[in-house]
Amino acid sequence: MNNFLKNAVLGVQSIKPYEPGKPVEELERELGIVNAVKLASNENPLGPSPDAIKAAQAVIGDVNYYPDGAGHKLSCALAEKHGIDPSCITLGNGSNDILELIGRAFLAPGNSAVYSEYSFAVYPLVVQATGAEARVAKSFPATHSIMPYGHDLNAIYKLISNTTRVVFIANPNNPTGTWFERDELNSFLSRVSEDVLVVLDEAYFEYMPDQLKPDTSLLLKQYKNLVITRTFSKIYGLAGLRIGYSISHSDIADILNRVRQPFNTNMPAQAAALAAISDQGHLDHSASLNASGLQQYAKAFDGLGLTYIPSIANFIAVNVNRDAMPVYDALLREGVIVRPVTSYKMPQFLRITVGNQQQNDRVLTALKKVL
Ligand SMILES: *Cc1c(COP(=O)(O)O)cnc(C)c1O
Repeated sequence: MNNFLKNAVLGVQSIKPYEPGKPVEELERELGIVNAVKLASNENPLGPSPDAIKAAQAVIGDVNYYPDGAGHKLSCALAEKHGIDPSCITLGNGSNDILELIGRAFLAPGNSAVYSEYSFAVYPLVVQATGAEARVAKSFPATHSIMPYGHDLNAIYKLISNTTRVVFIANPNNPTGTWFERDELNSFLSRVSEDVLVVLDEAYFEYMPDQLKPDTSLLLKQYKNLVITRTFSKIYGLAGLRIGYSISHSDIADILNRVRQPFNTNMPAQAAALAAISDQGHLDHSASLNASGLQQYAKAFDGLGLTYIPSIANFIAVNVNRDAMPVYDALLREGVIVRPVTSYKMPQFLRITVGNQQQNDRVLTALKKVL
């Protein structure tokens, strides 16, 4: 090994790179398939709001100029939407960027971060890159009556030690689709020391039924150590533009804004996001299409005798009762791309993104055939 490779921060060598969903073009190229359907990366089947497309197109001729590094207009619009001050907002190149910023600003060798098993693959990546210790809590067991595979906040709480600087939790969680009851979340937050940053990843917030949505502005008022992350990649359908944000106490936002790249969010992304938040109709349509898609899957899995994890996100994890990899491969040959979750230590599950009805039908038909 070259000497300089050994100089990588302790932990970086052990990082397993993030495995994205297979792109449609790659499958079509490899297997000579046409009209492949990809339901592997939790993308919105409706695409972005037409207003967002127009807004991005309107600025594309100006990209010889640097974007507004502070994203002033978008930050102000988000602040208004959440009833908070713009100084509480941090914009990110996707919300993954925010997770990275948190790692860079708050984690170092000698301290630790806590998250649960079966949680978003980016948390271990962020933690390992800093050289901090990852403390991984057990999730609820598969046999749990209410929330199988869900985050167990008590188990997470117990792993917090005096070295812990950050806790990552997702609501709803990816790849399980599981969630927290409001009381459960509140009781956890009230117990965690103010010296520990709690990152509440709400990438799928907009898909949640209203009665399960935590009261964002109330939580932020109550807990100064809370960072809530949101994204435009999921329900807003802007994954390819890379834009997300966090809401937190302004002191935390100030730190995150110091460590971010000066131009971490680009001009078309800022414009598209700004337009997207005003298109409530597109949001509502996306959420209701998703809710009926989830029902479509649940019913079909019941019919096939397959168990699945109850989900309120835009995907569902189904247990295929055998090694899921050959099933995944056979589905590829049917022109259907879903997501194996072996790397999440769920070797018998496939995570399927909720598409439109025809796409869901196609996945279900292929799954029936393959099984
Ligand atoms: C998709 C996802 C994100 C968002 O990623 P972006 O960088 O905003 O595209 C964050 N957290 C979870 C749990 C996700 O599934």
